[in-house]
Amino acid sequence: MTIPGGMPSPGALPPGCLFAPRCPKAIPQCTTAQPPLFLLPDGQKAACIRAPKLTLEALT
Ligand code: SF4
Repeated sequence: MTIPGGMPSPGALPPGCLFAPRCPKAIPQCTTAQPPLFLLPDGQKAACIRAPKLTLEALT
């Protein structure tokens, strides 16, 4: 999946997830801190605070 828009300028990085300003799944917590890396059930890793929940929704 790709999302429209581009990465922020290296000199003006947002405080949270770098994708938050243009992510359609963003929630307020996405803008407060860099997301940790989650290990998903299929063995992949995702630096997204919603990855565990969104992965479970996709599987059901
Ligand atoms: S943490 Fe996940 S849901 Fe939140 S803005 Fe980043 S990619 Fe989107």
